[in-house]
Amino acid sequence: MIENVEGVFRCVAEKFNVPDILNVNTGFYKISGSEIQFVSGIRNEELDTIAKGQIKFGEVFGFYLDNTHLETTEFNAGIGLHVKFLPFNDEDPDELAEMIALHELAHLIEQQKLTNQLNIELEECDQAIGNKVEIHLNNWNPDLGHNQEFVAILNYLIRREYPMDYAHKLRVALSLTLADIESDIVNEEEDESYYDCRRANF
Ligand SMILES: [Zn+2]
Repeated sequence: MIENVEGVFRCVAEKFNVPDILNVNTGFYKISGSEIQFVSGIRNEELDTIAKGQIKFGEVFGFYLDNTHLETTEFNAGIGLHVKFLPFNDEDPDELAEMIALHELAHLIEQQKLTNQLNIELEECDQAIGNKVEIHLNNWNPDLGHNQEFVAILNYLIRREYPMDYAHKLRVALSLTLADIESDIVNEEEDESYYDCRRANF
């Protein structure tokens, strides 16, 4: 059993074979009540302001990517995991918790441009589902974080670990991001094959 969120992220990173991404650029924090508590990693002054926007979610742990030494100017504070997901059973992981953690890890890979370093070779299939989701999300507002590359990386990591179940897992990983598609699936107006990269148009 893993009792803290940093442990969950490290465990999921190891399982999906991307152990080096929680590096010197990342830090972990905890929101409890109206308090932001820095936990470990690198500390960034901007954190307080951004994390305060997440207080409404209740008691959560998160991590952020400090961009001081990176090309990206976007500051990323990821909602990590709600305390309801702790403790985390690494032998029989909660599916939503695992996929939320993987979703955040895919952001770290994309924002730090680590695909080459991690030998991630995106296939046409990954690019296609990335494209489909990006186009869908940009129908309303430009969504810079959930871009084509991010979704392609997420899909790649899922396919590698769950080759038989990747469409379902991607649905879970994006269920909070594409809330409209999720609601269509729940109402049976859409099904999980929406997330099957092999059925996305190239
Ligand atoms: Zn996200």
